Amino acid sequence: MAQTNFTLTNFTYTANKPVVGKIVPVTTGAAMPKVKLVGESARTFELVKDNTLKLKKTAISNPQAFWQEVVVETNSGQRDTFRIVRDEFITNRVVAHRGAWKNTGATENSIGALQHAIRLGCAGSEFDVHMSSDSVLFVHHDHDVNGTHIEKTPAAELAKLKLPNGEYLPTLEAYLQAGLNQNKTKLILEIKPSAISKERGQALARKVVETVQKYKAQGWVDYISFDYDICRKVKELEPSAKVAYLNGEKAPAELAKDKMYGFDYHQNVVKKNPQCIEEAHALNLTVNVWTVNAPEMMDWLLERKVDFITTNEPEILLEKVSKLSSK
Ligand code: MG
Repeated sequence: MAQTNFTLTNFTYTANKPVVGKIVPVTTGAAMPKVKLVGESARTFELVKDNTLKLKKTAISNPQAFWQEVVVETNSGQRDTFRIVRDEFITNRVVAHRGAWKNTGATENSIGALQHAIRLGCAGSEFDVHMSSDSVLFVHHDHDVNGTHIEKTPAAELAKLKLPNGEYLPTLEAYLQAGLNQNKTKLILEIKPSAISKERGQALARKVVETVQKYKAQGWVDYISFDYDICRKVKELEPSAKVAYLNGEKAPAELAKDKMYGFDYHQNVVKKNPQCIEEAHALNLTVNVWTVNAPEMMDWLLERKVDFITTNEPEILLEKVSKLSSK
């Protein structure tokens, strides 16, 4: 968990773009302590004007690792470590809904389904997160697993539950560890609203962000939620987080005002109001649409240049985008 109150504005680099981003206070307007880079990372990175973090040229020419760690120390001796991932994430717009499970035999929201989405070459793999009664995070769609309510059950009990494909119910920690082994497929993390209370949803959002920070996974994870207060909580705790709103009723202008990444709306909302795509793009927001399984609707959305399509049929959509890119 981060012990400090500063963070980065970006967690990726490319060989052509060695500037990573700035080291900034988490709270807007708070004073930024004087910082320096320490250890091995001082050889890999340098701090230039305004705490801008830059990868040194020599480090870029080293192609071995797809991520680098940077250790930042304040003048009072506080330290934090961030992981900077080389941005080779696929941009084919295909987001596998709950992983790639329908045509692979993996159970939805299993680590196996994530691995299939990675193997297929999807831009993103979506999954859902809930919190146990003792505040451990688990990946699952429904609030219950065969009648066992996740929010009312301690982690030790939940950890004994098996999915139909033989995997144990995955914790978020295990799921992230599997996802961080690569830098091609983004992890699209849905924070489920609590069925118990609004407050519990806020606690869940905090725990999720802390877990992503603990695993230094910021460069891999985008967030989505149906609960706008959860979206805002994530932005408060990690201002550079890419957060998209799911529930469909907010205009792009409001999302832009709150510095959201974009919207991720049901296909009927977008079909009824197609100009929202252009409105979002004019405001530099991304457009994601769920859950699109019909080939005709995929075509309709691809024509309108949406950024992501969330689907249970990633194989069909992958074929479509590969045809488009070879045209
Ligand atoms: Mg979901």
